[in-house]
Amino acid sequence: MKKPKTTNRYCKFCKKRTSQKLAAVKTGTPSSLKRGSKYRMRKRGLNRGFGNKGKTSRGALGSWKRYGVKGSKKISLKYTCGDCKKVGLSANTIRSKKLQFE
Ligand SMILES: [Zn+2]
Repeated sequence: MKKPKTTNRYCKFCKKRTSQKLAAVKTGTPSSLKRGSKYRMRKRGLNRGFGNKGKTSRGALGSWKRYGVKGSKKISLKYTCGDCKKVGLSANTIRSKKLQFE
């Protein structure tokens, strides 16, 4: 998917339409230790002696979490205002394999 580098958009801080720069939000490191999270599984694997019985690399976790099934990823966009430099996030996410700014 192709997106323009800048767009004219309403800035809620300036309260007017300004030129805003687009960028994709980068995914951070996983932090949740909730049940069923990949991170938790990896942590548990570290505590119990040798290995994790192949849970994180292939097999068990991949089969029920269905990793790598979907070809595209959800991408959220952030808009940086040219006047006040403040960042706003888009309400809707895009599903796309690849995102290009032109
Ligand atoms: Zn602004």
